[in-house]
Amino acid sequence: MYLRSLHLRYFRNYVDQAIALSAPKTILVGDNAQGKTNVLEAVELLATLKSHRASRDRELVSDRAEKGAILAEIERLGTSHELAVELRSQGRRTVRADGQVMRRRVDFLGQVNAVSFSSRDLDVVRGGPGERRTWLDGILVQLEPVYADLLDQYKQVLRQRNALIKAWDDSAETANLSAWDSQLVVTGTRVMRRRARLLARLQPLAARWHQQISGDREVLELAYRPQVPLEDVQSDGQTIQTQFWQEIRAKDAAERARGTSLVGPHRDEVHLSINRTPAREYGSQGQQRTLVLALKLAEVELIEQVVGDVPLLLLDDVLAELDLHRQNQLLDAIADKVQTLVTTTHLGTFDARWLDAAQIIRVEAGRLHAAASPSHSHRV
Ligand code: ATP
Ligand code: MG
Repeated sequence: MYLRSLHLRYFRNYVDQAIALSAPKTILVGDNAQGKTNVLEAVELLATLKSHRASRDRELVSDRAEKGAILAEIERLGTSHELAVELRSQGRRTVRADGQVMRRRVDFLGQVNAVSFSSRDLDVVRGGPGERRTWLDGILVQLEPVYADLLDQYKQVLRQRNALIKAWDDSAETANLSAWDSQLVVTGTRVMRRRARLLARLQPLAARWHQQISGDREVLELAYRPQVPLEDVQSDGQTIQTQFWQEIRAKDAAERARGTSLVGPHRDEVHLSINRTPAREYGSQGQQRTLVLALKLAEVELIEQVVGDVPLLLLDDVLAELDLHRQNQLLDAIADKVQTLVTTTHLGTFDARWLDAAQIIRVEAGRLHAAASPSHSHRV
């Protein structure tokens, strides 16, 4: 897919700024706090209807206004679409595709697919299990938008069940709790099966990219380790449900003692390892960055396979941190096929191959200006 244009109105520090994206690669360059990440955030919102930096729309709307908007023209499978997300500092959003209001989020999700990569993603390797669950969930929503509803449903069931466990007093509520148990098992199983399937598909792609980028014999492995002990994570739903039930019963006393649900996908773990060593303990920052890059390229490839169109790639401040070899590996991998938006504070660390092909935009206090590629003047 191709993002042709983006128009930000009272979004973050933008007042009324439109840009046309004229090349497969766009580099947004500017000092700190000028609005580079805000542009990527707008694209991320179109893709996921979420921002990893804001929990409320009030933060996204310019502090000078009550209402803001992200407007975009996107080309998908050869057809052009107009998308709009209207944000209010108070009240609900309105999302439109080709002028039509989409009442359900699942109808809008999937219009844009994007894979983003920022230094925050290193937490997928270095952080706790919650980071990895969030990462998986983000991919699943793009592959199958209804997953967003399924996940909300599971979280809702979990909240209710936790409240009941907390209020437990031995005498009452047993019948109530078992009703929540079965909902937990049914929705939890659906979540687990999707996560297991995703990892199985991601594994070979990520391992191949990792080998290619590291140029080594390093073997990357991704393994799904759910809290429900499964002999085979690829089991059918019925088998998982049975094991889920058994585990809930086994943990009954512990759950009451701890006052919370101990079994289910909210406690899933994903093991990332390189040569059988946990990736977290393995190697340098650079190696961990290589690993995350491999995961991201696998994500791009998988989305293309499943959705049938190439997602956008959003690189926030990470390209300059890769050495020239890895920058070029990445460039070869995405070629002109993957539209890529890159932010940076300085162009100096970029390989000329990146600069030559790219549209360069200077970002200054919420304004975007076309800039000439510096590599032309540097060239002798
Ligand atoms: P860095 O290089 O440090 O990552 P950046 O160019 O990516 O910087 P952004 O995060 O895109 O910076 O933008 C930050 C700017 O946006 C800050 O100046 C901040 O004050 C401004 N900003 C954020 N939210 C709003 C808002 N709701 N209204 C107005 N301005 C905002
Ligand atoms: Mg930034």
